[in-house]
Amino acid sequence: MLQKNSIYTVEIEDIGHTGEGVGRIEGFTVFVEGGIPGDIVKIKLKTLKKNYGMGRIIQMLQPSKDRIEPPCSLASTCGGCQIMHMDYKKQLAIKGNRVKEILERIGKVETVVHPTIGMENPYEYRNKSQFPVGMMKGKAILGFYKKGSHDIVATDYCHIQAPINKEVIEVMKEYIEAYKITVYDEKSKKGLIRHVVTKVGFETGEVMVVIITNGKDLPLKDRLVEMLQKKVKGLKSIVQNINNKDTNVIFGRETITIYGEDKIVDYIGDLKFHISAQSFFQVNPTQTKVLYEKALAYADLTGEENVFDIYCGIGTISLFLAKKAKKVVGVEVVDAAIKDAKENARINDINNTEFYVGEAEVVIPELYEKGLKADIVVVDPPRKGCEEKVLETIVKMNPRRVVYVSCNPASLARDLAYLEEKGYKTVEVQPVDMFPHTAHVESVCKLSRNSNGLKE
Ligand code: SAH
Repeated sequence: MLQKNSIYTVEIEDIGHTGEGVGRIEGFTVFVEGGIPGDIVKIKLKTLKKNYGMGRIIQMLQPSKDRIEPPCSLASTCGGCQIMHMDYKKQLAIKGNRVKEILERIGKVETVVHPTIGMENPYEYRNKSQFPVGMMKGKAILGFYKKGSHDIVATDYCHIQAPINKEVIEVMKEYIEAYKITVYDEKSKKGLIRHVVTKVGFETGEVMVVIITNGKDLPLKDRLVEMLQKKVKGLKSIVQNINNKDTNVIFGRETITIYGEDKIVDYIGDLKFHISAQSFFQVNPTQTKVLYEKALAYADLTGEENVFDIYCGIGTISLFLAKKAKKVVGVEVVDAAIKDAKENARINDINNTEFYVGEAEVVIPELYEKGLKADIVVVDPPRKGCEEKVLETIVKMNPRRVVYVSCNPASLARDLAYLEEKGYKTVEVQPVDMFPHTAHVESVCKLSRNSNGLKE
């Protein structure tokens, strides 16, 4: 029987879904933050629950051969990256193995899982950044929240974000310090500047800076605009967003454009997208293209198909597919995303898409009742996966292929198991690394209707 606060030696064997190391003591599962597979560590058991424990490393007895010196000096304190101290090839291997293992264990799905597609340069890949703003010893700081807290870790340069942020951070600090602008304090709820958000078009080089303020009056606004204009190459838009609420939600309701446009433009492949302060856009456009091209390949369209894109967001996948399909129907619960999807179809001259707002579990059965047909169905649900009603209706629609894009292997395993039971076969799975140095893994799966399945 293990004892809380006792010291144990553990070999880390795996990485859990939030990036923590996983090992076993006398067969009992223990999570060890900062541990990576191959490490042998001495830990103090800080938490002991019925089915697992959590330990803190007190001594590294033997480091894993995959352990590297992370390029970022903040890697162990900042909450952004969890596994930057692991060799990138190993990160990819672990992600692929996790997908395969979870599909087999939870879903009993035996299929081909291809090696994870990684990035050639797994740095500076994020096109969107959100910096909380604070004060430390009389100096302005922008940075990230520490793991599990709201203390700010100051940064001047983040290795996974667009490099232009360096200039934005510099200017914001200069402006705050030179003009004695106050910064928001979560405890007293006083102070003006709360967050700075940046968005960058990787293909176009266009930059948007969003300044989130507690109050409407932004002193010496024109001076700030000038300073940003001078330093930030590609600056197309500066937006102020007002958030007076005592909340962790970054954005408030009111948005004012204080310089240039209210949006920037970027491309994924040859598709053009408008990105506004609050619209959703994939944060790693390079890998998004890889993922969606795979989805398109798995859909294997001839131009004759009616396609459903369920959980379509701003319609990225729908538009990718529309060029090769007869018609694409997109369904999504967020009204603003559907507005963007329609706008994105329009600016790309795509006329064979239809978008519906609503919960997929309500809208899809309605569309089916109305007699809409699907030859191919693509789903890209949130972490919890598809509602059973959605899967049930897909099966009724009887498409010859289902392409499942997933950010969570556990819900994916459950949903694939359901579809396999109803006459589909998971032919192959391609994991794609959308978020290097974090524990996330995205997968795209191709399912085909069995020729000897229940439906034919
Ligand atoms: N394929 C999309 C992103 C999908 S992310 C793109 O390319 O942009 C998952 C999406 O599912 C989110 O946009 C989320 O708003 C939406 N969503 C969540 N629950 C939903 C539900 N019950 N019905 C429909 N859409 C839902």
